Amino acid sequence: MCQFCHQHGEGKKWYLEAKNYSVELLHDLGRVGFINDFISTRGSVANVREKLSKAARAPAWLRRILFFFEERKYRRDHFGQVVPIEDVEQVLNLADGIVRVPCVCRKTTTRKTTNEFCFGLGINPSNVPGIEESFIKNFKPGPDLKLFDRITPAEALDLHRSFEKKGLVHTIWTFKTPFIGGICNCDRSDCLAMVSNRFDFRVFFRAEYVAETDTRSCSGCRKCISYCQFGAIYHSVMKKKAFIDPLRCYGCGICRSACEFDAIRLIPRSENQLSQNLW
Ligand code: SF4
Ligand code: SF4
Repeated sequence: MCQFCHQHGEGKKWYLEAKNYSVELLHDLGRVGFINDFISTRGSVANVREKLSKAARAPAWLRRILFFFEERKYRRDHFGQVVPIEDVEQVLNLADGIVRVPCVCRKTTTRKTTNEFCFGLGINPSNVPGIEESFIKNFKPGPDLKLFDRITPAEALDLHRSFEKKGLVHTIWTFKTPFIGGICNCDRSDCLAMVSNRFDFRVFFRAEYVAETDTRSCSGCRKCISYCQFGAIYHSVMKKKAFIDPLRCYGCGICRSACEFDAIRLIPRSENQLSQNLW
């Protein structure tokens, strides 16, 4: 169990605790201001980008100190965790309203807006006064001007399944922890959190799971390798099988969608001795 499970989930998966999605938490004025600032990209997202470029120029020892303090702040304000599709389904059924929203993060990395990949959970205009105006002001004109596209849990799940086939990693995010306000679908090429991760600036936890291959079913076709955004799968030339390095695996489960032989499964991280304390 990760730090948040202990702090905000009473020892269970924190993102499956209904109280962490509550409208009461969302009504906190500091939290509303933070979300508005985030959406406008003046806040958190733009800051990460600026800090990363500064850190890239700093000596390694200074970078480690900077990241230590920054990560603490992000855990308090806006932190994420990788979640596999099974848990995404449970989360979607817990949330009070789901809206598909333009991806704030990709807007800062690629300067493009897309309303495909991000989902606000419980953050709808009636819950947060002023949020829609702020959003429209900063994103207009969107790809099809369908901002705040309200969808059902079943529709959202179908979309997540289609993203999974594209190899995108599902991540869940807080807006002033422990309030959970969104799910993103991340790609290492344009997602700021994934880029940060490569710099060793960690703004999300690994999943509560880790993957392993069943060598009896694995044909050695290697299709899963290119699906892993974390470089955790390798192919043994001698054994002609794929293997997963638990020290690299983030437990997203995306590799399963590449495997025609059903040879990959997720197990609880706590059952893997090597990675049980690796977040
Ligand atoms: S896709 Fe499946 S069968 Fe192919 S190498 Fe990966 S685990 Fe083995
Ligand atoms: S090996 Fe691990 S990190 Fe890589 S795609 Fe599979 S579950 Fe995700």
